[in-house]
Amino acid sequence: MLVLDGKIASAAVKASLLQQTQALQAAGKRTPHLAAILVGNNGASETYVASKVKNCEETGFGSSLIRFNDDVSEADLLAKIAELNADKTVDGILVQLPLPKHINDEKIIEAIHPDKDVDGFHPMNIGRMVQGLDTFIPATPYGVLLMLEYYKIETKGKHVVVIGRSNIVGRPMSILLSSNRPQGEAHVTLCHRHTPKEELISLCQQADILVVAVGIPEFVTANMIKPGAVIIDVGITRVEDATAKKGFRIKGDVNYAEAIAKASAVTPVPGGVGLMTIAGLLMNTMKAYTGKFYHN
Ligand code: NAD
Repeated sequence: MLVLDGKIASAAVKASLLQQTQALQAAGKRTPHLAAILVGNNGASETYVASKVKNCEETGFGSSLIRFNDDVSEADLLAKIAELNADKTVDGILVQLPLPKHINDEKIIEAIHPDKDVDGFHPMNIGRMVQGLDTFIPATPYGVLLMLEYYKIETKGKHVVVIGRSNIVGRPMSILLSSNRPQGEAHVTLCHRHTPKEELISLCQQADILVVAVGIPEFVTANMIKPGAVIIDVGITRVEDATAKKGFRIKGDVNYAEAIAKASAVTPVPGGVGLMTIAGLLMNTMKAYTGKFYHN
């Protein structure tokens, strides 16, 4: 059984990006710069953003963290995005989700210039992705593709079952894996909350590669795993645990102990897809620095 180690695979991506930033520095040029906006002080969001900023620094990127209180107005947030859009020293902009209820996520995402949309959430970039054009791939599905590439996992002609259809994970994942591209060409089945449970179990049992993004800890159990399958666990849920130092533990969507007994390869949680998401974000930030898709 192979552990698909996000630490190892993301280190390889970061090492290659570091070489590029060092070459830029040696040539006296500025390096890519990511601006992250964090609204409020949600514990998980704080951790994610801190990790993104730290990874930027380790890769030789510039970064800025812009904080707002959770009562910030939508207008103030939009004004900051407009300022960052116009700033030629800022290549990528990310707004950490979720946002407070009084702010319209869609409006915020659409306000980010599509050439700086390093999370790959802007509808224009999603459109390009669907058409197989060069673009920013949403960071988490991109991270999964980078993981499959690093471990040379063949997807062509394989039956991939994706569970979850969110705009940021499941749906783009299913589109990318079925596309005519490297780490694509798979026969993909997308399941979601309205897939009848017996049908879901039966499909999972046929999956050569199972990608799980539902947000329900240990949703996938041994009976849903085809012997020898590759299991990609995207789920990250904080589960209260008084015995843990922080008072919680991070759980994936797959029962890891059961998966490693049956699968040929499994991503751990933590230490799997989460780290690859950051690698995807950094790749997108380098792409934002080097080229533009839109000419306005
Ligand atoms: P979401 O809540 O937007 O979507 C969950 C999806 O699961 C939905 O499409 C829903 O239809 C499906 N679902 C729910 N119950 C189901 C059931 N019983 N059977 C089949 N499908 C079911 O969540 P999301 O934003 O896609 O995130 C999913 C998980 O991935 C969460 O744990 C989240 O924290 C995690 N996540 C991790 C990363 C990372 O970097 N590793 C990034 C984003 C999200």
